Amino acid sequence: MSFFKTLAVAGAMAATLFSGAAYAEYPERNITMVVPFSAGGPTDTVARLVAESMSKDLGQQIIVENVGGAGGTLGAGRVASSDPDGYTVLLHHIGMATSATLYRKLAYDPLNAFDYVGLVTEVPMTIVARKDLEPTDLKGLIDYVKANKDTITVANAGIGAASHLCGMLFMSAIETPLVTVPYKGTGPAMTDLLGGQVDIMCDQTTNTTKQIQGGTIKAYAVTSPARLEIFPDIPTAVEGGLPGFEVGIWHGVYTPKGTPEAVNTKLSASLQKALKDPNVMARFAELGTAPSSEADATPAALKAKLEGEIARWKPIIDAAGTYAD
Ligand code: ASP
Repeated sequence: MSFFKTLAVAGAMAATLFSGAAYAEYPERNITMVVPFSAGGPTDTVARLVAESMSKDLGQQIIVENVGGAGGTLGAGRVASSDPDGYTVLLHHIGMATSATLYRKLAYDPLNAFDYVGLVTEVPMTIVARKDLEPTDLKGLIDYVKANKDTITVANAGIGAASHLCGMLFMSAIETPLVTVPYKGTGPAMTDLLGGQVDIMCDQTTNTTKQIQGGTIKAYAVTSPARLEIFPDIPTAVEGGLPGFEVGIWHGVYTPKGTPEAVNTKLSASLQKALKDPNVMARFAELGTAPSSEADATPAALKAKLEGEIARWKPIIDAAGTYAD
């Protein structure tokens, strides 16, 4: 080994040792967890449950900050450009993968602007409507929507959001484009659905369960491969007449690229503990979802998931041919 190479290797070892030592006490102050959608929505709900449990484990508060807008890309962009010091993390969902193709210009590269902490959960979606919409089943809804295609409105959380993706799949399955109404998250979209200002929405069970159970909105289908334990009477979209209509909304935790490995490892271990916290498990079950396994709540599993999902959705989005700038 040359003298200079030896020096370089020694320097790198010192840097590793130094950063390991510098982060031995991590975290030493509050951590911000950016949710790229409004407060009160499904991603927010998942984030707050996990953040509360991880805060106890890490001995520092994880404070959720909602940075909604542009289908989750504003919040993701904020984290991509934050200091990679372990004090800003992102909890995002499948939109991390779909926005890679949907947006012609993104301020960040979804695959290379982040480090990975782990997967959190995969949440089914529900096709729901304001409670006084006439149809009583999915078949009736499809006929009704086709007959009223110029006046029916579909709420979503912006291009790249899960609700946008699911709505897009619905419109393409029934070959009927509809008027969409974008929000900064489906928390506020739900408020308008409850108030009857919009007609239909496709959203995660983590946002719709309470309202479906309370009868304040109508549910036509779940997008999981099988019916959900919490809704035995709601058919799957496939049973209801939409072949192949299955969507699961996976969520993951990321840090900005360049975050010390010791930090990502510590966050990942804490996430794994949170996903076994009986309170988190019980709330997830009530909301129709389940925590990711320990093997999935790892940096490698999230990275593989994101890579696979970008590749899976690209041809589907390209075939639909709708992009955002
Ligand atoms: N459910 C939303 C979506 O459509 C986002 C949210 O508000 O959590 O992606």
